[in-house]
Amino acid sequence: MSLDAHGRVLDWINWQDATCLYARDAVAWTLGDPCLTVRGGTNRLTGQQSFIELHPIVASRGHARAAGLSPTPSLTNQALFARDDHLCLYCGQQFSRQLLTRDHVLPVSKGGRDTWENVVSACFHCNSRKANRTPQQAHMPLLAVPYRPSWIEHLILSNRNILADQMAFLKTHLPKRSRLSA
Ligand SMILES: [Zn+2]
Repeated sequence: MSLDAHGRVLDWINWQDATCLYARDAVAWTLGDPCLTVRGGTNRLTGQQSFIELHPIVASRGHARAAGLSPTPSLTNQALFARDDHLCLYCGQQFSRQLLTRDHVLPVSKGGRDTWENVVSACFHCNSRKANRTPQQAHMPLLAVPYRPSWIEHLILSNRNILADQMAFLKTHLPKRSRLSA
């Protein structure tokens, strides 16, 4: 996970990009115990192999994010279903990704927009039953209010292999209302 030098969370980075930061001496500071060792070439004089130890949280010099500016997570089906915990927000049952659809609370045909605040996960059955109606018209009340995840929530929802150090750090940055802070 990469931070800017002020500790603002930027994004997940893969180990290759992380290695580049270390190799370019662009790492300002790190958090957590080393989680991966990358081996390099062998020094011809000493016969020793070089290696770089990667840390789970890396703050880099240089590129900084503007203060207070939090990117909006892009609205993909994968991110949407993760936000709703793979529940259909009409019948409350949990489904696999293949069985879920993106439902527009206010239908697009009625001027509803394709935004985080107007879309929910819905199973095929509920989506076709609701059809081109609002939840009120269809007598299908929503089980939760759709919201735009914060950037931090998005990072948590988009990675299924978060290390304990990373999770602890991200949780300190969650908005107070977040259901992910539990
Ligand atoms: Zn359903």
